[in-house]
Amino acid sequence: MYNHILSSRLIGVFTHINPDGDALGSSLGLAGYLEQIGKDYFIFLPSEPGEALSFMIPAEIRHKIMVWGTDSPEEIVSRVKSCDLMICLDFNQPSRSGEFSQQIIDSAATKILVDHHVGPDTEHFNLIYSKPEASSTCELLYSLLMDMPDINSDASKLSTLTRESLLTGMTTDTNNFANSTNPQTFIMASRLIEAGTDRDKILDKLYFSYPLRRIKAQAYIMDKLLKITDEGVAYIIVDRRTRKKLGLQEGDSEGFVNVPLSIAQVRMSIMLRVEPDSQKVRVSIRSKKGISARNMAMQYFNGGGHEQASGGRLTIGKEIRSQKELATYVENCIHTFFKEQ
Ligand code: 5GP
Ligand code: MN
Repeated sequence: MYNHILSSRLIGVFTHINPDGDALGSSLGLAGYLEQIGKDYFIFLPSEPGEALSFMIPAEIRHKIMVWGTDSPEEIVSRVKSCDLMICLDFNQPSRSGEFSQQIIDSAATKILVDHHVGPDTEHFNLIYSKPEASSTCELLYSLLMDMPDINSDASKLSTLTRESLLTGMTTDTNNFANSTNPQTFIMASRLIEAGTDRDKILDKLYFSYPLRRIKAQAYIMDKLLKITDEGVAYIIVDRRTRKKLGLQEGDSEGFVNVPLSIAQVRMSIMLRVEPDSQKVRVSIRSKKGISARNMAMQYFNGGGHEQASGGRLTIGKEIRSQKELATYVENCIHTFFKEQ
């Protein structure tokens, strides 16, 4: 990877649509390294990250980030075309990068994939670093950076931006060290903290800075909208009316899907969010060990992800006729899925 980076003129950093902490953390973590060694790059985001993650982006590098849907598409396309190296982070197939999918496929640039999802697309990348056992793409990128000759396994040689971004992404993808950790995850955290990374600041931004609106929305949703089926599957539907009533903004309901999993009889939790201005429904699925959120996402929700944390998408007018039919659709999927188990 080092030689590819050194010999490139302009590097395009890509990640998945609806970028989460790990997507943003790995992109910014890499950006911090590229800044450090003076390489020219752009981060291309297929959609805006939620407001709750905006603290991760330092003002000094905002001009290095181009967002589809916000910045001029002509300018974005022309910049993507100028890249001679593409580094794709936290997704396993081009389609996860939204509008950039075809641009990545069509590009003659060298393409490197760094990701922790099962089953990377081997057709479209020249070099693949895939490690499904890694807690996060941030963890995998950390080990790649440690192998760079100029870093030479010394975390204190990483810039503050890289250290903070990697620790943030790893923290969100593991739900603050609760899921998918391995000994390497803790070693990485330990080295980063040893090198002076302020974990308290990160935790404060991630978990102690919510707007009151979010907490009230969570209380309402768990009280009024949570359903639990006989199979022990909790599901929540946030339709457009609920969204409006609660004044929910992008990112406000991030993580709500984890809450019902803390109930003893719940084995799987599904949250469906109807997007405010499209016919799309975002689906988030979490499961306890032994039940595959990933299979559920792949079989019924046009998605995928990790064994215990997956997601997908439905389209109103395609799989279902109207918002009203969402509950019936989900219940049927749950019954069929568990009958087959
Ligand atoms: P979330 O529920 O946080 O949106 O997504 C959880 C995980 O599911 C993500 O880290 C990603 O791996 C996966 N995921 C979410 N949405 C999709 C999707 O539309 N397609 C695929 N293949 N995976 C998804
Ligand atoms: Mn990830």
